[in-house]
Amino acid sequence: MEYYDIAETWSADQIREEQTKRLRATITQAGKAPFYAKILDEAGLCPGDITSPEDIRRLPFTSKDDLRAQYPDRLCCVPRAQLVRMHCSSGTTGSPVAVCYTQKDVDTWADLMARSMFATGIRREDTFQNMSGYGLFTGGLGIHYGAERLGCMTIPAGAGNTRRQIKLIKDFGVTAVHILPSYALHVAQQIEEEGEDPRELPLRIALVGAEPYTEETRRRIESMLDLKVYNSFGMSEMNGPGVGIECQEQSGLHIWEDAYILEIIDPETGRTLPDGETGELVMTTLTREGMPLLRYRTHDLTRIIPGDCACGRKHRRIDRILGRSDDMFILKGVNIYPMQIEQVLMGFPEVGHNYLIRLEKQGLLETLRVLVEIREEHFVEDMRVLRSLQESIARRLRDEILITPKVDLVQGGSLPRTEGKARRVEDLRDAPEGGN
Ligand code: ADP
Ligand code: ZN
Repeated sequence: MEYYDIAETWSADQIREEQTKRLRATITQAGKAPFYAKILDEAGLCPGDITSPEDIRRLPFTSKDDLRAQYPDRLCCVPRAQLVRMHCSSGTTGSPVAVCYTQKDVDTWADLMARSMFATGIRREDTFQNMSGYGLFTGGLGIHYGAERLGCMTIPAGAGNTRRQIKLIKDFGVTAVHILPSYALHVAQQIEEEGEDPRELPLRIALVGAEPYTEETRRRIESMLDLKVYNSFGMSEMNGPGVGIECQEQSGLHIWEDAYILEIIDPETGRTLPDGETGELVMTTLTREGMPLLRYRTHDLTRIIPGDCACGRKHRRIDRILGRSDDMFILKGVNIYPMQIEQVLMGFPEVGHNYLIRLEKQGLLETLRVLVEIREEHFVEDMRVLRSLQESIARRLRDEILITPKVDLVQGGSLPRTEGKARRVEDLRDAPEGGN
């Protein structure tokens, strides 16, 4: 196995040993913030008590609300003079949380990101375009520093301005990018609309992440752009991108366990679940000094994939994120995730790249409407063909989610598109009568 960081070659035992040591140091460091000092005191836990990574279970969880309550910098464990950076989460689900970094934190983060890129096959000879938004969002600078650390010429293209993105890729012979799944499809489509073949671009690798997507979407991006897609995972609270990555086996995301302790819990009971069972991802930082976090509840739903990866790395893998527990909606008593719907839609070749799930209420009756963009060449079909497509989409959706939705076929490009993370669900159930 080719590796970027020696930690990638550690055995499972070595990883656990190092985790234990680093957990002790992390607890010492975290205790410098009053919030954690109190928690450690109440749990009666001293660094010396830690003999295995599982000892972390003696502590309560840290929630997103805790982070909000400690905003802006009350969880910092070093004096302001030692901090060099802050970021905020993009605020997809409510008021923001802030994360502060020391120089060492920024350096270890860059190394984790560089290591992640290397694991997908990116090398210093590659020209890399970062299509994540710069600014407070960690995807900009986080990925940028990683790519430079690896030694790639790095183009800080940022989000949006698709024409310019495409021009930069062509002009500089860009071979690797980091991009949102919804935006990757959009870029490919735009090139097609301009009468060119997106497969002719020099791209060979796309790291795709920052929002959930399905295996069907991965395959679609791969075939439209003729490249390999690797799932890339992170969140601001854990530095940002570079927390986990798919290696070239494309069989789940390795979480860098020398830097994070990984747990999957039952979101209802808080009980730790065995490998293989789906639940909420909980993470503890092991290398952070500016703002360590202990047992942070991410709200992301996934499972640990049992067994070893063929690549040889022993850092355990998680499955593709199913969604956030807050993305789930309940309709007629059934729990539904947007990704279940995406999985069905993207299986239809006639379906375009964008869709919107709309929850409505007529009187007391709750209904689900799915607006689906149809590719240009299919949209001109005659009514009977379209009607039968509509029916088969509704049928497949019912098989998956047990509810028969209304399916509206709409023209490609007609649904709203965001520059950042896609908004998949529009809940109009509480809208006033006669509202839209
Ligand atoms: P926000 O929480 O405001 O969106 P972040 O930018 O920190 O701010 O987003 C992190 C979240 O993005 C993760 O917790 C997860 O829900 C989602 N995410 C990041 N990468 C992926 C990925 N590869 N697959 C699915 N979801 C992802
Ligand atoms: Zn692997």
